[in-house]
Amino acid sequence: MRSRRGRLAAAVLGAAMLMPLPMTAVAQPDQSTAVVSDSQQAGTATYSVRNTTPESRTAISRFNVDMHGVDSGTLTFAATPSQAKALRAAGYKLEQHVQVMDFPPADSMYHNYAEQNAELQKIAADHPSIARLSNIGTSFQGRNLMLLKISDNVASDESEPEVLFTCQQHAREHLTPEMCLRIANRYTDGYGSDTAITNMVNSREIWIVTSVNPDGSEYDIATGSYRSWRKNRQGPGTDLNRNFGYNWGCCGGSSGSTGSETYRGPSAFSAPETQRVRDFVNSRVVGGVQQIKSHIDWHTYSELILWPYGYTYNNTAPGLDANQERAFRTLGQQMAGTNNYTPQQSSDLYITDGTINDWLWGVHKIWSYTFEMYPRSGGGGFYPPDEVITRETSRNDAAVALFLSYSDCVPRVIGGTC
Ligand SMILES: [Zn+2]
Repeated sequence: MRSRRGRLAAAVLGAAMLMPLPMTAVAQPDQSTAVVSDSQQAGTATYSVRNTTPESRTAISRFNVDMHGVDSGTLTFAATPSQAKALRAAGYKLEQHVQVMDFPPADSMYHNYAEQNAELQKIAADHPSIARLSNIGTSFQGRNLMLLKISDNVASDESEPEVLFTCQQHAREHLTPEMCLRIANRYTDGYGSDTAITNMVNSREIWIVTSVNPDGSEYDIATGSYRSWRKNRQGPGTDLNRNFGYNWGCCGGSSGSTGSETYRGPSAFSAPETQRVRDFVNSRVVGGVQQIKSHIDWHTYSELILWPYGYTYNNTAPGLDANQERAFRTLGQQMAGTNNYTPQQSSDLYITDGTINDWLWGVHKIWSYTFEMYPRSGGGGFYPPDEVITRETSRNDAAVALFLSYSDCVPRVIGGTC
């Protein structure tokens, strides 16, 4: 099937021939369809005019539109509504590109970025005394990184242990925002009726970042078919979960090549999105004490529960002693007993460096886990059908409940104290 991406990419190849034209943005191949999303943000749209000549392209360029490229005489450019009106008045036949920016119809139950935000707003509006929506700042392309707080007396910063859930560092892992939304819905809808949920909401401050990488996730679905995009949308794209500043790039668990799927970025915290997470977590140090005690970062896929460190094969390392390792492992195993995931140290999968888990533990001593969700293998990989969303997110309800019950003091799981 010939995709929109193929057509636009072909158009971009012709762009080099148009260098004398006053192009404000010459699209690079991997940005070829970013024009679709960028034009949406700017209030402009993307248009094509067929059967153009060098002379007619020059004439069109003088309307100051954003020239993108030409393919077999078909010119593609972005224009504001008034520019498009002027061009049509001058006799050009403009065809407007359809902007998709959504999941394929068969997967419409997945929440795109706007739908995630609508759901979060509904949760906050329906439960104003226990749910409060804000953000931790913006992504590279300026999207808000939404932050939902759930707690009794939600408007005040009470002296309660805090717990953090983060989802979708990796763009194509679309099942993970569904997991964050499920937690958000359960721990608000269940308040007052479910005893365990009510107790957790009363005794914890729960923070949920539904998507750490909205630019990447929107890019992944922008054409209406999946691109298997993992990184953020800053330049060549940075793997956010290799960009955190604890032993960043230390150990061969990330790549220095910009084209790599695990490109760590030019420096630790070079990505706006990891900066936002860092700054939020740092802001929760109150009176010299980190308020966030524990954390789960949600990914797909492989059905694993992972704990630090990722940068070394050793079970213990500086800042992680044998008792701490045993607490990590014991709670990891108990959680895995509820969802049939495989519990292991992160590096038992493969060495990673610059991850959120290593940074949260190494710097802040936050008990930080990664869950790699469904499927174990096969099953649609990063793109399981939307029919599995409820089954595969509810599968983690008991693990989340167990995690929250120990989230104030994970060492308690081995009889320790905090
Ligand atoms: Zn991931």
